[in-house]
Amino acid sequence: MTSAVPLRTTTATADAPHRTDTAAVHAGRRDLRQLGVHVPPLEMSTTNPLPCVERGGASYEALAGGGLPPGDGSHVYQRLWNPTTARFEEAVAELEGCAQAVAFSSGMAAITACLLAARSCGKGHVVGVRPLYGGTDHVLASGLLGTEVSWARPERVAEALRPDTGLVIVETPGNPTLELVDIAAVADRCGDVPLLVDNTFATPVLQRPAEHGATLVVHSATKYLGGHGDVLAGVVATDEEWATRLRPVRALTGGVLHPLAGYLLHRGVQTLPLRVRHQSASARRLATWLTGHPAVERVYYPGLPQCDPAGLVGRQMSGPGAVVAFTVRGGGAAAAATADACELITHAVSLGGVDTLIQHPASLTHRPVTPDARPDAAVLRLSVGLEDPADLCEDLDRALRAAGRA
Ligand SMILES: *Cc1c(COP(=O)(O)O)cnc(C)c1O
Repeated sequence: MTSAVPLRTTTATADAPHRTDTAAVHAGRRDLRQLGVHVPPLEMSTTNPLPCVERGGASYEALAGGGLPPGDGSHVYQRLWNPTTARFEEAVAELEGCAQAVAFSSGMAAITACLLAARSCGKGHVVGVRPLYGGTDHVLASGLLGTEVSWARPERVAEALRPDTGLVIVETPGNPTLELVDIAAVADRCGDVPLLVDNTFATPVLQRPAEHGATLVVHSATKYLGGHGDVLAGVVATDEEWATRLRPVRALTGGVLHPLAGYLLHRGVQTLPLRVRHQSASARRLATWLTGHPAVERVYYPGLPQCDPAGLVGRQMSGPGAVVAFTVRGGGAAAAATADACELITHAVSLGGVDTLIQHPASLTHRPVTPDARPDAAVLRLSVGLEDPADLCEDLDRALRAAGRA
């Protein structure tokens, strides 16, 4: 038996990569015409017939070691390999300009795999640049995975490195107040230590960290890549060496992505550039409008000049993104009341979907962060969706006034 679905659907991408919008639509799909279908097959098998003991065994060995399935073998077992998920991985790798990508059951599973892979090379020390996503901060601070963390400002990363440092972890724009970090400058300070950049907020449409020196580019694919609030997933785009190291961690810890989730993510990626650009344009309008609102104290948005002192938008990022944070006059109580009073905008954690969400980071997403590193209680975070921004402004205005009266 030969494998019905080729592993890489194209060999031409490294030589002639397509532009982002074209890659989003076609990456991971270039063999479909040859297969006689228009959309990717959804392959749900948990186990796969083995051509014979010898070739089955060779396939198992290749996959368990983190390699790619041999062409004349079998995918063996879904925890080792799934062709539908592999198509999504191929699309993410192409969009991020990386050799390969490895998908996981969640963003946290992806970050966990990176930490375990570094640790298994004898490098259990991690340098973390705050602010980070609450879950990432928590897993590092707790030492749950046997890693030890040193927190450092971006300009102090070199001083924090040790001989056993396995990773430097950065998020930009940062969560929740959207501070930008100069990726190339931090990569320089990392020396030989791999730099992991969480690119969830920017997406490869706005920022491609590998071009600035990142070795590992991580996404909570739950957010913009999926884009519709119905898939939990993570993905790491990286070089072949790291991908080969991550796949066995995924197989052994079992944090694999279900193929239906891989299918939905691959479909979501097709509209990613369109969604991100449209949502960013609306976010810019909302950020400007909020700046002039009497109930709003301060607005955090990388598109506002005071929020981007180093001029990274235009240089590192092609646009400021679609998440806006702001502080409400009246502190934590007024911020919480504003989130509660929204009607069109859903009061919920998460971000990056087609509909607008608002949440209170100090109570929710950043609750596990130690109090001294936790965001101000007056901060609200808004993930701007595809609604008409005029309707969003009306809803926010009503909510801010209601909170002011309470
Ligand atoms: C949501 C999120 C994560 C965690 O991803 P899950 O898919 O929820 O596990 C990591 N980083 C950032 C920036 C996030 O927003």
